[in-house]
Amino acid sequence: MSLVEIHPDSNFPIQNLPYGIFSTAENPSPRAGARLGDFVIDLAMLDEENAFGKHFGFFADASLNRFMAAGRGVWREIRQRLIRLAGEEQASLKKEALRPIHDAQMHLPVHIGDYTDFYASREHAMNVGVMFRGRENALMPNWLHLPVGYHGRASSVVLSGTDVVRPRGQVKPKDAPPEFIASRQLDFELEMGFFVGTGNDLGKPIAVEDARDHIFGMVLLNDWSARDIQAWEYQPLGPFLAKNFATSISPWVVTMDALEPFRVAGPGQDPAPLPYLGSDSANGLDITLEVTLQSARMDAPQIISRSNMKYLYWGLEQMLAHHTVTGCNMRPGDLCGTGTISGPTEDSYGSLLELTWRGEKPIALPGGESRTFLQDGDTITMKGYCQGDGYRIGFGEVMGKILPPK
Ligand code: MN
Repeated sequence: MSLVEIHPDSNFPIQNLPYGIFSTAENPSPRAGARLGDFVIDLAMLDEENAFGKHFGFFADASLNRFMAAGRGVWREIRQRLIRLAGEEQASLKKEALRPIHDAQMHLPVHIGDYTDFYASREHAMNVGVMFRGRENALMPNWLHLPVGYHGRASSVVLSGTDVVRPRGQVKPKDAPPEFIASRQLDFELEMGFFVGTGNDLGKPIAVEDARDHIFGMVLLNDWSARDIQAWEYQPLGPFLAKNFATSISPWVVTMDALEPFRVAGPGQDPAPLPYLGSDSANGLDITLEVTLQSARMDAPQIISRSNMKYLYWGLEQMLAHHTVTGCNMRPGDLCGTGTISGPTEDSYGSLLELTWRGEKPIALPGGESRTFLQDGDTITMKGYCQGDGYRIGFGEVMGKILPPK
């Protein structure tokens, strides 16, 4: 007899069991939980009661880092135990160990030491390249040979629901000197993020065939971007202030073990990558993604993009192998973004830059409004899920609202 009813459309059936950090009014200490339907399983409480057969201790931490560092063997052991506890042994769970989600305050799940953002969608790279450099030079000569990325800013990674203040910065109007303004081209980027579980020692790269064992799980990620600031500053070293003011992530980390059944072939890589990057076989993940926009005046959100993680040209394992091939050390809890996930059709583009083609084709919204870039009061929400046979492995959502500049 199950206490927890799971609707077939729920993002959080027993096959998922993602991890997060939560607190409650009775126990304000942030601690680890696993999501099941509309409930949070209090892992710190289970661990105290020895429900895992031995005491791990790390579930009482305010981040998942020590759990992530414990390695894939421990991740699997815990997951197998939780599947039994959430399923056939659910009656043995104490009522207090199962908290309704509306009683839970969510926190950033991971202490993120470093954040890296890639640029792994060929469609996105093409679209941006065509806009900024013209069709002939759209894809840079390196793009098909390596997963392009840049080192981002970990301090401004925020949890879903955190407001985003419109940044100010330097922009360069055409035929006029640079000026200092509040960004007029504030944008979102539809991405997925993956967390490093076990890291590597400085000087010892993670081989592409071992990369899978080092990736703990994934979240939805919105890499907010100020396009006018970006256009002026990005050469020659890449984005700097245009992307360092906020990056939003969803609160539940979906494990790679839960995502395993949704691996698919990628779009195919030609030319074949150098051997250290492996091949793209079963590199893709079939994750349905959507973006909605709701202005301050709208009653309900409007879908403005539908995409899928499977469109990405580069796989997560390739990104991690490339990142560490110099000997760069990754640490538990490091976050990597995939880059904007754009699909092949105009309704599947993962940013307003592409959806409105740099502002040339405004999006019509209900109530007579239109958008080229984000206005103050706009809320962007991203959702994602894998569709199984009669169940969904979902990510929930990542949401953020734009506030006027300070
Ligand atoms: Mn990005």
